[in-house]
Amino acid sequence: MTDVLISGAGVAGPTLAWWLRRQGFRPTVVERAPALRDGGYKVDVRGAALTVLDRMGLLDQVRRRDTGMRLARFVDASGTQLATMDAALFGGREGDDVEVLRGDLARLLVDATRDVEYLFGDSIAALEPAADGVDVTFAGGGRRRFDLVVGADGLHSTVRRLAFGPAAAHLRPLGHHIAICAVPAEFGEERVELMHPAPGRSVGVYRTAGAPDARALFLFPSPVEEPDHRDLPAQRAALARAFEGAGWRVPELLAAAADAPDFYFAPMSQVRMDRWSTGRIGLVGDAGYGPSPASGQGTSLGLVGAYVLATALAEAGGDPVAGFAAYERRMRPFVEANQRLAERNLAGMVQSSAARIRFQTSMLRLMPRLPGRERMIRRVTEPIRRAAGAITLPDAPAAAR
Ligand SMILES: Cc1cc2nc3c(=O)[nH]c(=O)nc-3n(C[C@H](O)[C@H](O)[C@H](O)COP(=O)(O)OP(=O)(O)OC[C@H]3O[C@@H](n4cnc5c(N)ncnc54)[C@H](O)[C@@H]3O)c2cc1C
Repeated sequence: MTDVLISGAGVAGPTLAWWLRRQGFRPTVVERAPALRDGGYKVDVRGAALTVLDRMGLLDQVRRRDTGMRLARFVDASGTQLATMDAALFGGREGDDVEVLRGDLARLLVDATRDVEYLFGDSIAALEPAADGVDVTFAGGGRRRFDLVVGADGLHSTVRRLAFGPAAAHLRPLGHHIAICAVPAEFGEERVELMHPAPGRSVGVYRTAGAPDARALFLFPSPVEEPDHRDLPAQRAALARAFEGAGWRVPELLAAAADAPDFYFAPMSQVRMDRWSTGRIGLVGDAGYGPSPASGQGTSLGLVGAYVLATALAEAGGDPVAGFAAYERRMRPFVEANQRLAERNLAGMVQSSAARIRFQTSMLRLMPRLPGRERMIRRVTEPIRRAAGAITLPDAPAAAR
């Protein structure tokens, strides 16, 4: 039996484990966090990724966890409503798409792989490739040999660093930073995304159906000096500088962010690599081709990538190099189509001037009465829909006995 070590129990890792297990592989998942965290920020699943969930028999359960968002409400510096937008359009959502909390999706996927060995609270410290396997040293001190190792450990992948070198060579910054954290429920309106756009920066607060708290999301130009990723006070100070003088409830939100236990602060970056494997080591999801939160497609790429990789490895029998090569051939055009969405989306999320904000919100106000409304909406949703479906999925392999 082929032993596969997967690093990361996010979205791509457990999905890969599910499909590999079904093919008669023996996956083990190592996850740095000591336990799964529920909730988190909301993510979209659309296009081919819905087919993958359907083939796993999980689509209905995912749909039942939909965030139920109804509306985006744009407000000015005094809190006055400028415009509203149907949530189905916000982020380019269409009829069949699902929006769930990332943590809820990860938990569902981990629960669906109860027959897989999970090692929580550990991570890979060293990889030594050999002709017939990879010797793995764990941070916790253990040593084991695996036939294959796959990094599904996200944007700052350890497997990528160990097998392909420093992160800087593979990360392409998009010029903006994102900060996100939980804030008290009273900042939000249930199932509404409140948006306060300002020139060059934007703040949103949303509360999903039944959530005990709200979530604040800040988008702003990347600071000239990037604070160290372990230095939370420096990150909070950089965020406060980026929103100096901002109106609406931004000062209160910044104060809440200063106390938030789950504060996340990072450059919006894409992972761009010439190849996603070397010998018996490969990458899947954000680790290999993270499209950035601005694309809205990272979750879908992780689900589809895991499925395509498992299928390719199964088809290649005992030849991992051929399996990884087939995976990359099938996935690369799909990845590129989805990565292309990020910059266009970002331009819509952060407007460069007050005039552009006025134009955007006036168009939204007028939209219900405009002739050609359907065509304008399609101009927004069509590129996302096309990219999300830009792959012909291989047939689901028959389960191995
Ligand atoms: C603020 C924000 C908003 C987003 N919004 C959207 C959206 O609207 N739509 C969308 O599709 N996507 C969105 N994304 C992106 C989406 O979350 C990712 O693209 C998706 O989760 C990728 O799945 P993954 O499994 O590849 O990586 P992740 O979900 O990041 O999972 C990686 C896992 O690896 C673990 N890990 C990390 N390092 C190690 C290590 N050394 N050893 C072991 N385990 C490790 C992590 O703890 C984590 O569990 C957003 C991301 C962020 C940060």
